[in-house]
Amino acid sequence: MWQIPRVIVNRMFGHAQRMLPNECVGVLSGTGHTITGWHPLTNADADPSRFLADPQEQITLFKQLRDAGQQVVALYHSHPDGDAEPSEKDLAEAYYPEALYLIVAMGTEGCLDLSAHLIQDGKAIAQKVAITEA
Ligand SMILES: [Zn+2]
Repeated sequence: MWQIPRVIVNRMFGHAQRMLPNECVGVLSGTGHTITGWHPLTNADADPSRFLADPQEQITLFKQLRDAGQQVVALYHSHPDGDAEPSEKDLAEAYYPEALYLIVAMGTEGCLDLSAHLIQDGKAIAQKVAITEA
């Protein structure tokens, strides 16, 4: 079971809201299936329907995490208008088969949703996530 502290879920939702009407993008770090760190990234292709993590920022972050003995556990982005299902583009551009892909859907009328999948060989596999109070 994947584990995410509630405070990090709230930070992801806040990030997604601040970036409206565009998508947000970020990384969650930790070890194994347990998330302990939140790292918002700059969306270098800011648009309501796409995202691209700033490549240099991402390289720097991945190196910092490695040096600190931490792993990239999850990658997240938002769907400002859509549902929380991975899009065709999300499936095609998922380069980390071990990472949990989280999508924050903003929905309508302030309704929030969060989905969690592994994406392997272009297919999304739904994952269970426990939200912890730690
Ligand atoms: Zn997407």
